[in-house]
Amino acid sequence: MRRISIFGATGSVGEQTVELIRRAGGTNAYQIVALTGGRNVARLAEIAAELRPEIAVCADPSGLGDLRDRLTGTGIAVAAGPQAIAEAADRPADWVMSAIVGAAGLVPGLRALAQGATLALANKESLVTAGRLLMAEAQRHNARVLPVDSEHSAIFQALAGEDIAAVERIILTASGGALRDWPLERLAGATVKDALAHPNWAMGQRITIDSASMFNKALEVIETREFFGVRPDQIEVILHPESLIHSMVGFRDGAIMAHMGAPDMRHSIGYALNWPERAELPVARLDLAQIGSLTFRAPDPNRFPALRLAREVMARRGLSGAAFNAAKEVALDHFLAGRLGFMAMAGVVEDTLSAVSADLGPENVIMSLADVLAMDHLARVRAGESAARRAKGT
Ligand code: NAD
Ligand code: MG
Repeated sequence: MRRISIFGATGSVGEQTVELIRRAGGTNAYQIVALTGGRNVARLAEIAAELRPEIAVCADPSGLGDLRDRLTGTGIAVAAGPQAIAEAADRPADWVMSAIVGAAGLVPGLRALAQGATLALANKESLVTAGRLLMAEAQRHNARVLPVDSEHSAIFQALAGEDIAAVERIILTASGGALRDWPLERLAGATVKDALAHPNWAMGQRITIDSASMFNKALEVIETREFFGVRPDQIEVILHPESLIHSMVGFRDGAIMAHMGAPDMRHSIGYALNWPERAELPVARLDLAQIGSLTFRAPDPNRFPALRLAREVMARRGLSGAAFNAAKEVALDHFLAGRLGFMAMAGVVEDTLSAVSADLGPENVIMSLADVLAMDHLARVRAGESAARRAKGT
């Protein structure tokens, strides 16, 4: 039986992974090795009781007693804290879902690759933070990374059987998020509730806000560069409000291959779970006559400074991705807490990139994990300082 672990099992991607595993036969079809969650111990315990992993781990150390109580008598081992999550990734598995949100997903992903597991990667932050390190680790251990982000799964599928050298351009589609039709002058006053009203995709809170600010697309542009190894100038972003084309690859003969489907993460999670085969998935089938038309437009650079910052990160490389991601996470925390305006998030990231510019290291070497983690830490400090300066009402 295939051995599977799910990191971030209680999140949006994690729950959908659990659902597909359940539909495919659950513990009759797969042997579950490790399940991890953050603070929602009750839900982690429920999923564990159903899927019977060897071990269940919560990120929050204060949840350990509760997790133990809920799983007593089941024979499932329990643990808590970031170190325990990393150790859970050392347990031999064939397929590991990386669906923790944020830079916290990096270390478990690296550890899963080191034991040779196939890494289904939803955690784009690990590619942005340490793309070259992650891909080198995969190569070193002859382990595979399968993209789960819908755009990257689409690109991966469009590239099946193709020579990457024949690729001219990669076109990432973007819904534009909840605020895409707001007038520019109102954006600065957008609230968390406004930014959470995503028109097409139901996702975790953080990525939904990142969609409205286009920081999500900025991360995905960098993710594309790191995963597929194309040049930054080959990567384009187009607004596609219907979110039915999940991304496209243009080849040197002018042909464009597009991946279409309902805006449903079970497409890309299911593709990664069943790869290299395709299995029946519980996703809506598109009725093209009903849909009628698809629309596209260029993103307005004034609305989405995050896209320009992503270009700077790709030009600079080194540790700039680690700084960019960490600063973005801090800016988002401050926005969620109501301390920072919506457009000020990009300002915090820009301030941080310039504050750490002397510490970004050489451009074309693979950075060590220690260097990446040190930059992650430094950028969080600098971003906190910038956020305090830019705080609302000061
Ligand atoms: P989510 O917030 O719904 O879930 C995140 C999971 O990570 C939860 O299990 C949470 O408990 C856990 N977690 C949070 N902080 C943690 C920490 N510090 N240490 C360990 N675990 C922690 O997030 P999501 O929307 O499922 O997104 C997960 C990842 O997938 C992100 O990297 C996101 O960018 C990516 N992604 C998500 C979607 C989507 O549709 N939700 C689409 C594409 C990519
Ligand atoms: Mg995406």
